[in-house]
Amino acid sequence: MTEEQQTDFVIVGAGIAGLRAAIGLAADGARVLVVTKEALGESNTNYAQGGIAVAMSGEEDVSLHLEDTVNAGDGLVNREAARVLVEEGPLRVEELMLWGTAFDRENGKLMLTREGAHSRNRILHAHGDATGAEIGRALLRHARAMPNITLREWTTTIGLDLEDGVVAGVQLLDRDESVRHVYARAVLLASGGAGQVYSDTTNPAVATGDGIAMAWRAGAEIADMEFYQFHPTALSLPGVQRFLLSEALRGEGAYLINSGGERFMERYHPLLELAPRDVVARAITREGMGPNGETPPVYLDMRHVTNIDPGKRFPGISAFLAEHKLDLRRDLIPVRPAAHYLMGGVRTDVHGRTSLPRLYAAGEVACTGVHGANRLASNSLLEGLVFGARAAEAMAGVPAVPNPSVERPKQVPVHHARDFSEALRELQKLMWNNAGLLRDAEGLKAAAAEFPRLSRPWRGTYLTRALVEYRNLQTVSRMIVQSALGREESRGAHYRNDFPQRDDDRFARHSIIQKDGARPSSILRMEEEDVVTSAAV
Ligand SMILES: Cc1cc2nc3c(=O)[nH]c(=O)nc-3n(C[C@H](O)[C@H](O)[C@H](O)COP(=O)(O)OP(=O)(O)OC[C@H]3O[C@@H](n4cnc5c(N)ncnc54)[C@H](O)[C@@H]3O)c2cc1C
Repeated sequence: MTEEQQTDFVIVGAGIAGLRAAIGLAADGARVLVVTKEALGESNTNYAQGGIAVAMSGEEDVSLHLEDTVNAGDGLVNREAARVLVEEGPLRVEELMLWGTAFDRENGKLMLTREGAHSRNRILHAHGDATGAEIGRALLRHARAMPNITLREWTTTIGLDLEDGVVAGVQLLDRDESVRHVYARAVLLASGGAGQVYSDTTNPAVATGDGIAMAWRAGAEIADMEFYQFHPTALSLPGVQRFLLSEALRGEGAYLINSGGERFMERYHPLLELAPRDVVARAITREGMGPNGETPPVYLDMRHVTNIDPGKRFPGISAFLAEHKLDLRRDLIPVRPAAHYLMGGVRTDVHGRTSLPRLYAAGEVACTGVHGANRLASNSLLEGLVFGARAAEAMAGVPAVPNPSVERPKQVPVHHARDFSEALRELQKLMWNNAGLLRDAEGLKAAAAEFPRLSRPWRGTYLTRALVEYRNLQTVSRMIVQSALGREESRGAHYRNDFPQRDDDRFARHSIIQKDGARPSSILRMEEEDVVTSAAV
């Protein structure tokens, strides 16, 4: 069954970016439809533990936050976007508090903690280690109180409708597997990251890169896909999900030690355990490699930290560890890296505009350039908030289109449902082994050679959410591999064993991928030095 509907704006995703944008648009009186793949609240935002970085103590703090962000990004940060982030951040966070977000306080004053590569304490947190859930709760409550916002759960966006190359709406797949088209003045992609590309990830099941894949299919520019941040410390217990052990644990003084009991970070970086995440993640990988390539565990050690009560400061983490008979006060906690945050994505300007007219993107799905080659810890919630608000302001000025005559992409032929779980596991393992923390040309080419075989299962199969996600993960995987192969240097989160040095002469530039035959960019200024690949990914 195919239905058609009209609204003013469609927002794909109900994390921090989508909800903030919806509130901004609805405040102007527009009708806003927000769709989300699962229940409201199931998003990366909901799992964010450590906090939100924001310079609340004046101008000096703002300029230091800018410098920290630029330094973490290893030569690729878009300074204009980063300036917007740090300067508008305090106002947007004040707004969050007005809407009821309860950040942790001591004697009435906001508590501030520090994470890796921050030069001072500027991370706000809530309920100890449940910052994202608290922000999401407050935003959702605010959004629910606005009658012109419609929130639709268990609805998967499967593609963008175009009218003469201009985005005119979305195709939605309902839970009962019926397809509907919703036309709108503009569409915002706020669909989050793609951690499910990898076998080891901190991301929930909804993070399948859908927004990036559908934007690419529609012809939008995609940037910097080789930069995937791996969080150094996810819990490493056999058969247990890769539960994140926040960097704030190290901010509060936890050490990393190897299986010989040695605190090893001093061999890798002067900032020790608070070095940039990619440095810590690679150090753990190397320490974990025994003489015969086996992987004895690396541990997080908080036993010496006596100035805080870990049970109170990190209640969520402590409760999860307790389920597995571990206690931060008493035990060494085995850890290993996991895919965590995608710096690349749908390329936007500082107003959330993509290279396609009427298509906007904000949050983890977008590449504003604020993170460059590596994200500064706790900058991503702030990015979703600031650029969600900005995208809404820009979208509000988009005029209505009378009766769009839409070019609909071909439907996937419906034959029979299939179980993609085995093919998916194979893809995720391939990406982890060949396009993960440590890469080289041989491994990346071997991954690329496997893609045609792995793409076979989706041909002529039933149109289900699993199929849509599997196809999108394939598309995103190809983009990561292609971009990683092209960048013959090591920078930020991208590390090539065969090119271990940063090479500014050849690679101080962004990687842009666009579909073969796509139109030239109409909105974004293409920098001359950007590497543009026009590819059938
Ligand atoms: C475990 C964990 C801890 C983290 N800790 C921190 C932290 O302490 N500080 C920090 O700054 N960042 C942290 N991050 C990163 C941060 O949470 C995310 O980058 C940020 O929340 C992304 O927000 P978003 O609004 O862009 O997307 P998300 O919050 O991921 O929301 C995406 C939404 O899009 C929906 N969606 C996706 N595809 C579709 C589709 N096809 N159709 C319909 N809906 C769709 C999803 O259902 C979801 O509602 C953490 C991430 C994880 C996983």
